[in-house]
Amino acid sequence: MLRLTDRGLYCEAADLFIDPWLPVDRAVITHAHGDHARWGSRRYLASREGARVLRTRLGDAAAIELVDYGEPLTVNGVTVTLVPAGHILGSAQVRLEHRGEIWVVSGDYKTEPDPTCTPFEPVRCHTFVTESTFGLPIYRWRPQEETFADLCAWWRDNAAQGRASVVYAYALGKAQRLLAGVRGAEIGPVYTHGAVERLTADYRSSGVALHDTTPVAELPRGTRYAGSLVVAPPSAARSPWLRRFGDFSTAFVSGWMQVRGARRRRALDRGFALSDHVDWPALLDAIDATGAECVWVTHGYRDQVVRYLGERGLRARAVASHWEGENDEQPAVADETELA
Ligand SMILES: [Zn+2]
Ligand SMILES: [Zn+2]
Repeated sequence: MLRLTDRGLYCEAADLFIDPWLPVDRAVITHAHGDHARWGSRRYLASREGARVLRTRLGDAAAIELVDYGEPLTVNGVTVTLVPAGHILGSAQVRLEHRGEIWVVSGDYKTEPDPTCTPFEPVRCHTFVTESTFGLPIYRWRPQEETFADLCAWWRDNAAQGRASVVYAYALGKAQRLLAGVRGAEIGPVYTHGAVERLTADYRSSGVALHDTTPVAELPRGTRYAGSLVVAPPSAARSPWLRRFGDFSTAFVSGWMQVRGARRRRALDRGFALSDHVDWPALLDAIDATGAECVWVTHGYRDQVVRYLGERGLRARAVASHWEGENDEQPAVADETELA
């Protein structure tokens, strides 16, 4: 059904690519992160839920056709259906059915609840194409309520000492999950970097309820930042933009913060492990739930995951995609600098 080409994952029967890394005639997009939604293709197909964020990322000129989750579309005899992936607003798995054979391409996904997007839905298939960003047994997420409680305690401590709290979070997805997570908590005021605010506005106009925010750019000169929570993209770290905050503490919200030393290497005061990808047990459960006998493993720890699945009797194959799961979570991602 699918094969890897130099432009991306290609379905010949339907003549379409999924998240191609070079321009193509027809691209099906799993979600709006920069490594999956690339500019320059002639036509895009994506989920209606993610319409606003994808438009912000691809620009006004892009030809984007929208479908609802679960609404089947027939392309040259292939039934294409987008199914919620639970990763960020609008994220979708792509289900392809042709002559009784079913493939599912996961894109990026998580199975943990997230109030900013429709929950992940398992789909039965013959072949499952999965990401493996955190595909190592060391990755196990704590309950997110605990992480948010820790973050609020960090803010309280900073506020008590007259400091601002600057938290770095990926501008698309993670920042909004953070703003949903602290909604209703005693925190703030919450200020945002422009790159975060723009996508946050897209989430709000898509109907997602988030904590109130004020863009830093709209605050009057002489604003005192002590006691505020500032949400900024990782690319703002160590930039002159930070000077205005005076005395402040820094933290990074990312799955990578689970690893000892990751915080220290970036010279951050705190790290909060919160990810929009599945951890190791959730990855294995998700693969099981598909019932697939064949698994293609893309970006992340694909060789390790392939070996593990092979030992469990599955036909598993590493697929050298150009997707960069890590970068969804890493600081200083190129397209964030663009947005800043
Ligand atoms: Zn992603
Ligand atoms: Zn990815």
